Amino acid sequence: MQIADNCVVSFHYTLTNDAGEVVDSSAGREPLSYLHGLGHIVPGLENALAGRSVGDAFRVDVPAAEGYGERHDGLTQVVPKQAFQGVDALEVGMQFQARGPSGVMSVVITAIEGDEVTVDGNHPLAGQDLHFDVEITEVRAATADELAHGHAHGPGGHDH
Ligand code: ZN
Repeated sequence: MQIADNCVVSFHYTLTNDAGEVVDSSAGREPLSYLHGLGHIVPGLENALAGRSVGDAFRVDVPAAEGYGERHDGLTQVVPKQAFQGVDALEVGMQFQARGPSGVMSVVITAIEGDEVTVDGNHPLAGQDLHFDVEITEVRAATADELAHGHAHGPGGHDH
């Protein structure tokens, strides 16, 4: 069976950046499962998986624009320390949920200078080319439940 819309696909992956560092990997975990054709995974990877079959192992190079998108400077802002009342020790790298133009978004502190805290709402992988090593472990037709819900269900069946 070849991967097409309305297939549930399971695959192992290792994601590396341009520097060759492993950013994420399914090694040692269950493979990632998703319902193909709905944009649940980054577009460049989803497009590369279309037409593939179980057992295929290959590398996909995804430019940033087809990955997590380009970085947007507008998603970086400087806020006063008082905005973080209740947080004892602010540190670079801390993540917070913040209200943004398109709903709640995750921001990370990228700099702290005096009373000014710089937060960045870009996805940590925005602006980066992505390199996936992929091995497809399962391709099957989605069940009626999965199609109705718009996502893949795990091997244990419906769990939510
Ligand atoms: Zn469901």
